[in-house]
Amino acid sequence: IANQDQSWLDSLNPPQREAVTTTEGPVLMLAGAGTGKTAALTARLANLLRQRLAWPSEILCVTFTNKAAREMRERVGNLIGPAVEGMPWLGTFHSIAAKMLRRHAELVGLQSNFTIIDTDDQLRLLKQLIVAEGVDDKRWPAKQLAGLIDKWKNRGLNPGDLDALENEAYANGKGQRFYALYQNRLRELNACDFGDLLMHMLNIFRREREVLESWQQRFKYVMVDEYQDTNAVQYLWLRLLAQNRKNICVVGDDDQSIYSWRGAEVANILRFEKDFPGAKVIRLEQNYRSTPHILGAASGLIAENSERLGKTLWTEVDGGDKVRVIGVWDAPEEARRIGEEIERLEREGAPLDRIAILVRAQFQTRTIEDRFIQIGMGYRIVGGFRFYERAEIRDALAYLRQIASPQDDLAFERIYNTPKRGLGDKTLEKLHRHARARSIPLSLAAVEILDTDELPARARNTLAALMRDFARWRDAAKQLVPAELARTILDESGYTAALQAEKTAEAAGRLENLTELARAMEEYETLGDFLEHVSLVMDNENAADEDKVTIMTIHAAKGLEFDNVFLPGWEEGVFPSQRSLDEGGLASLEEERRLAYVAITRARRRCTILHAANRQIYGQWTSSIPSRFIGELPADHIEEETTLSGGASMWRANWSERDDPFAHVAQANAGRAASRGPGWQRAAAQTFNPAPRRIAEPTRSAASFAAKPRSDIGVG
Ligand code: ATP
Ligand code: MG
Repeated sequence: IANQDQSWLDSLNPPQREAVTTTEGPVLMLAGAGTGKTAALTARLANLLRQRLAWPSEILCVTFTNKAAREMRERVGNLIGPAVEGMPWLGTFHSIAAKMLRRHAELVGLQSNFTIIDTDDQLRLLKQLIVAEGVDDKRWPAKQLAGLIDKWKNRGLNPGDLDALENEAYANGKGQRFYALYQNRLRELNACDFGDLLMHMLNIFRREREVLESWQQRFKYVMVDEYQDTNAVQYLWLRLLAQNRKNICVVGDDDQSIYSWRGAEVANILRFEKDFPGAKVIRLEQNYRSTPHILGAASGLIAENSERLGKTLWTEVDGGDKVRVIGVWDAPEEARRIGEEIERLEREGAPLDRIAILVRAQFQTRTIEDRFIQIGMGYRIVGGFRFYERAEIRDALAYLRQIASPQDDLAFERIYNTPKRGLGDKTLEKLHRHARARSIPLSLAAVEILDTDELPARARNTLAALMRDFARWRDAAKQLVPAELARTILDESGYTAALQAEKTAEAAGRLENLTELARAMEEYETLGDFLEHVSLVMDNENAADEDKVTIMTIHAAKGLEFDNVFLPGWEEGVFPSQRSLDEGGLASLEEERRLAYVAITRARRRCTILHAANRQIYGQWTSSIPSRFIGELPADHIEEETTLSGGASMWRANWSERDDPFAHVAQANAGRAASRGPGWQRAAAQTFNPAPRRIAEPTRSAASFAAKPRSDIGVG
């Protein structure tokens, strides 16, 4: 082994190398953004394989996104060659757990072809249960219940584990009951939701010693990236898997913990040393990603947080531009400006796929998309309104799901009268009743009911034809490749014809999407594989597209890096989000600040922050003030600029005068602001900040924010 070529290890710095070569025992790598944690983890994986300490199938490696898994697979491939082909257990928590669960489904009352339902289906299912139980779903919406169930699953709680308080949280003490009903219903449907993937596996591990032991035996090494964002159920699952051999290496950064709203607990990283005594803790301080200004800006910002371990970062990278902070009039101008900047970068030869626009909230993307479409700028949206969420795609998928799993009642319901074939709610009710009475799925109930005289002749004929179609497609599924099957079903069901008959631009777009769906399916050999893929593209990542700019949320950008990063919408109420301000707690504000830290540290060469003076949020015009985070950026590392020189007086007018064209905006603030005089900042603070003392008590940097930059944009 020693005489193997180790030159690829030489590119790592000493602590990274230590992480790579400490193959046995627990290792915690705790370090700031861009210090090469993921790089070291990848090298570690390569090293284990290269040294033949484990076969590819004996390593469990968890990444935060499917994209990250793909990149890691690629990089390991570059380091050691095609051995990585068989790395079946490299992926996200969800994808790995789904794969495991298929092998043990029967232990939790499912079949191995279970369906993974999405939030849409989940909501419909819950609503049915709520209504069936006679609970008012206006007062106790399905969404709320879905949120609670998710939360419980993230914490590793089964219905029986809920305490009185949790139980109270829904419909005056019906939380537990509904959670249990929901789980039963899912089982009947041979389905599970995302939370179940890990939850079921955790339950299996807890109950079935032999199963757990076999997995503990299998995985000689366990590795986890972005460990600071694991939630309780993930943590428990990992701990069980690693408990035996204790060869577990986790890497993370407490400053980048941004998923507490999804149950992530940064405490997991802090208690690692307790859980695995003797863990080797490795710290990395050299940042290889960003220029000193970007790093300086990000470090200055995160230093404002009180709850952190604190760490030093330095870089050998030279020079580079300061972080630019640009003030604009409104969101369309912001989008225009970003478009211009990108065109300029493009002319300078910057590859578009290394440019990203990272937003705090989904709604921000639309203006930017509109603008990009207008100027013909290629872009891809990662996350958000994704391809597989479009109605026609969901319909097509419902057909396929029903073929793959006849128990899938949700799929059945979605398509049983889509396209319209004259099957009404009455018939569906009868099917439901029959299915309930006999405890069978709807598709089977349909077959049985055809043998009775329950249905009027027309409904009966139509339903019979549909059931014959289903039977035929199920046969066809055995012979045709998935893409062909999809085309067949879409044609024979009349779905395509119905869209063609519409003859609208929208319908044409939908048809294109369906064509694209069949195209996407071409990569898959079995329908099951394809459906699994669809369920898992939660963090939607298409193959890298060279001449497209990436638009995504900051949350989704974690772990990624881009040469040029644009960060629009740095305004109070957008970022930090209104929600975090309303909650008012320090913790939620600090999480927003970590998010801002993640955002800036994605940039390698240049980072541009934008803020608009006016913004339309959910249809309402609102005046904005720059984010407090801008004020917290150390002045040495930023360069401010505004396009408001002409519009500045208008901007000011917003806040002080009544007869200005934006009086309605001013009025919104009038009651409070006017009485305190025309300070734009104070007025805005009132608008966005229910606790104005946060601005009234300037911190070090808030003071510099108030003192310096605003005068040069002509306000204040
Ligand atoms: P994040 O916290 O954002 O996930 P990270 O700590 O995982 O960051 P990486 O993404 O692994 O950091 O590395 C950041 C950049 O630094 C990458 O471009 C990587 O290739 C580069 N890099 C990492 N280690 C080294 C090294 N020893 N020498 C040169 N470049 C390195
Ligand atoms: Mg990383």
